[in-house]
Amino acid sequence: MIKKAGEKVVVVKGVPAWVCKQCGERYYPIDTVERIKGIVKEVSEEKVKMQKIFAGELNFKVAITG
Ligand SMILES: [Zn+2]
Repeated sequence: MIKKAGEKVVVVKGVPAWVCKQCGERYYPIDTVERIKGIVKEVSEEKVKMQKIFAGELNFKVAITG
């Protein structure tokens, strides 16, 4: 799951979710949603250490036209 914490982009891995068998949409239990909010808050307050990853950003239009 990708979340923004102020200026930072946080990738939270291993988030438990129910996945809809029909459309593939993910649903998160309420306690998980609350925990994610807590994690984002802790990250923005620099209370948790994140593993740094290399990330790139591009525009959808650029991605499809090459
Ligand atoms: Zn569905």
